[in-house]
Amino acid sequence: CGIIGYIGPEQATGVILDGLRRLEYRGYDSAGIAVQDNGRLEYRKKAGKLANLDAELAERPLPESHAGIGHTRWATHGVPNDANAHPQLSNDGRVAVVHNGIIENFATLRAELGAEGVEFTSDTDTEVAAALLGRAVNRGNDLTVAMREVSKQLHGAFTLVAIDSQEPDVIVAARRNSPLVVGVGQGENFVASDVAAFIDHTREAIELGQDQVVTITANDITVTDFDGGPAETRAYHVDWDTTA
Ligand code: GLU
Repeated sequence: CGIIGYIGPEQATGVILDGLRRLEYRGYDSAGIAVQDNGRLEYRKKAGKLANLDAELAERPLPESHAGIGHTRWATHGVPNDANAHPQLSNDGRVAVVHNGIIENFATLRAELGAEGVEFTSDTDTEVAAALLGRAVNRGNDLTVAMREVSKQLHGAFTLVAIDSQEPDVIVAARRNSPLVVGVGQGENFVASDVAAFIDHTREAIELGQDQVVTITANDITVTDFDGGPAETRAYHVDWDTTA
């Protein structure tokens, strides 16, 4: 339902939580965050209101981090519970992904991955994307190439945002029939489902076109199509008032 990714000098958890609060108006049933932690990923996720995630974070704080992703879920596949909340991770914990939309061919993919030994811990369609991304990076692809390859295998509507513990300086996102905007900061960048998520930090935005992948670092933004070719995007300035 709502997505934000942040990379830059601020503490990622705080920036992401504020962004998720800005997205609450869309409605949701669960929320979660994953951050980079020195070669590992750490995550917390909870069914219910953001207050439940806040309470979990108070009890088990996330480590200091400068890159992470967050999600508010509106369940379509699997009931609203902690296990089905996003982020979803690959079995080895190397890749975490958040997702808006529906992966229509998830049952076929899930059966194929299950036959390869992947163990599913949720009932979501999203977890197949986590498993496919994990498989692709473990075959030696960087996360950007992995995202392109996986996006081509998925049918339906999706915005995906992923992090890889072995590539701590990038966040990679993809879209098909579901919104994705980049927030362009100074020494920091954002990806989100809605500019509201980063409006307190920057008003410079880039809207991605269909079937595009974006890789952000703290200082760079690279957009391609699903084949790695050049992509047309739309840069704009957000000038609406957001005192609400
Ligand atoms: N289909 C996914 C799920 O049910 C994502 C739902 C959403 O857009 O929040 O977990």
